[in-house]
Amino acid sequence: METATKTLEATLAPPTAHKEGKLCDLLETYREGLHEAFDAGCDTMSATSEVVTPYDLPYQAKAALCNYVPQLHGAYGAQELDDDHPVRLTNQAAEFDHSPAREYEFTWWAPQPGRGTNFWIPLRINPEQEGLWHDLVDGDASAGQLRLQRNRTSWTLHVTVEFPVEEPDYAIDGDDVTHIGLDIGETALITGCALKDGSPTGPFVCDGSRAKHLRKEMHTTLKRLQERDAAEWRINERFDHYQNALTDIVEKASRQAVEYARGFEKPVIVMENLTYIREEMDYGSYMNRRLHAWAFARLQNRVKDKAREAGIPVEYVRPEYTSQTCHACGYIGNRATQGTFRCTNDECRVTEFQGDINGAINVARRADPWGESVPLKPAGSDSPRGGSACDSTTTSFETAKPSRDHERRNASFKRHREMSEKHSQMTLSAFHGSEPSTSDNRT
Ligand SMILES: [Zn+2]
Repeated sequence: METATKTLEATLAPPTAHKEGKLCDLLETYREGLHEAFDAGCDTMSATSEVVTPYDLPYQAKAALCNYVPQLHGAYGAQELDDDHPVRLTNQAAEFDHSPAREYEFTWWAPQPGRGTNFWIPLRINPEQEGLWHDLVDGDASAGQLRLQRNRTSWTLHVTVEFPVEEPDYAIDGDDVTHIGLDIGETALITGCALKDGSPTGPFVCDGSRAKHLRKEMHTTLKRLQERDAAEWRINERFDHYQNALTDIVEKASRQAVEYARGFEKPVIVMENLTYIREEMDYGSYMNRRLHAWAFARLQNRVKDKAREAGIPVEYVRPEYTSQTCHACGYIGNRATQGTFRCTNDECRVTEFQGDINGAINVARRADPWGESVPLKPAGSDSPRGGSACDSTTTSFETAKPSRDHERRNASFKRHREMSEKHSQMTLSAFHGSEPSTSDNRT
């Protein structure tokens, strides 16, 4: 079984004066022990053990010193010690608890010397790492070393975690893989569509209205608190509240997207590459149409992490025109309304299509060896262009309007086409977007 390692970071919630004193004692005593063992030139575990045993330290700290000091003299070849070493603790100190009912959901059982002296201390975690914290508490990931450091005004805890990852048993560029395009947006948080033998299959939609509502509410609330000169802890507390709620949504949405991908044979997840957007597109308007950059990156990261854990490869493609290109014919069409893509190519069987699904299909196509051969043809651009990302680029295309004759000739054909398209759209809309909720997070 393959494993991957990550370092989790948390800030201790401001401890009481009593706990603060205990933590300071721990840090000072640890540093004294470390310096004495280092200065004594201890290069084995037993030599270190002899020096540190009398110290008033928890056994997890002594054990960590027994590992660490010989390394300093050996592998690291350290000549002298800094004064600001963090407390190192073996993984036996990795006792955490989680409860959604608490303000800080995760807590750490901080080790102390002697019996019955440990205490719980709440952790402010990095929201992007919440999934791994859960894995740690649930035993799906295992802890390595812990490091506790005192900063100017706070304490930081680092925990190394090792978690299993499945290696895909197929090549990412194989002929028989299923490309699954994921389009990240605001109305729909994630829209996915798989390409089976080049045909779009069974789309997936994760509704984004709750995230959108929360972000708006967070913005207003924090702004109001700042205007009122509210205490910093009050602002932080509200900020954490919204972050946690948004994290729940991100976790659920990314997990659902990966589960969706898992339902296909030899899945390869395809997402847009953000770096191209920064370099070549109008980043601001692109993100206005989508989701704020931080949420976009966070969602992509969590999808990537979860895909990795599930053994699903991830590919990134260029994002230009993914929302404005017709997935069926490759023409640049337009977004008739926020949710609808309209193809302006009269020869095409698509007239209107759900916009995000059209985007997801295009994303998947870009990774498909056959996808890029679809020509990017300009078409009529008589559309309202409010808020779309590539305004400046699209208008530079020549407008090619069909002649009247052509239009008349196609009228009856078009009507037929609309009927069949309507049918396929019914199939698409029959798939209901699922609203992420906090209640069944982490199943
Ligand atoms: Zn088309």
